[in-house]
Amino acid sequence: MGYFSGFFKGLKSLFTGMRITGKYFVSPGEIVTQQYPDNRDTLILPQRSKGEVTMPHNADNKHRCTACGLCSLACPNGSIEVISRMEVRNEKQVKVLDGYIYHLEQCTLCGLCVKACPQDAIEFGNKFEHAVYNRQNLTKTLNLPGSSLLEKEKKAPAAAPKDSNQGSTKETI
Ligand code: SF4
Ligand code: SF4
Repeated sequence: MGYFSGFFKGLKSLFTGMRITGKYFVSPGEIVTQQYPDNRDTLILPQRSKGEVTMPHNADNKHRCTACGLCSLACPNGSIEVISRMEVRNEKQVKVLDGYIYHLEQCTLCGLCVKACPQDAIEFGNKFEHAVYNRQNLTKTLNLPGSSLLEKEKKAPAAAPKDSNQGSTKETI
């Protein structure tokens, strides 16, 4: 008895599946799954999707990386190399970015580097098609040739208190 009830249950389940398959076969306009790669040109990925680490540059070819190296320290598998040099600016020695080397071939897209960056200098890009014949082609330099650091705008000095009796006696910097 158990054998026959199991047989008919399986048959019913089979026809249920076949009915759904047949429905979408005769009305393909109702298909809701992504037709990748046919829709490659119109494919819109969610903003949060992680394809690779990128370093945004503005129209003046400036980035926000100060070459502090925190992203490299945060990376668990050594996918980031920050190469820096010292320059004299306004009579001070400052560190500037020489090369930001990103090894996409070993990156797990964990996001720790992006979280660690205090300057928001790196972020995730959506590009996800990374197939290459030579894995060395996945090692990328993220800072563009001739790019430089985007200097932060200096904050306007705080306004002095109107009533000198209420404010502190310290001078405004
Ligand atoms: S996403 Fe993760 S693995 Fe990839 S470079 Fe950043 S910290 Fe390293
Ligand atoms: S990307 Fe951010 S954390 Fe990494 S070196 Fe540049 S400023 Fe520092």
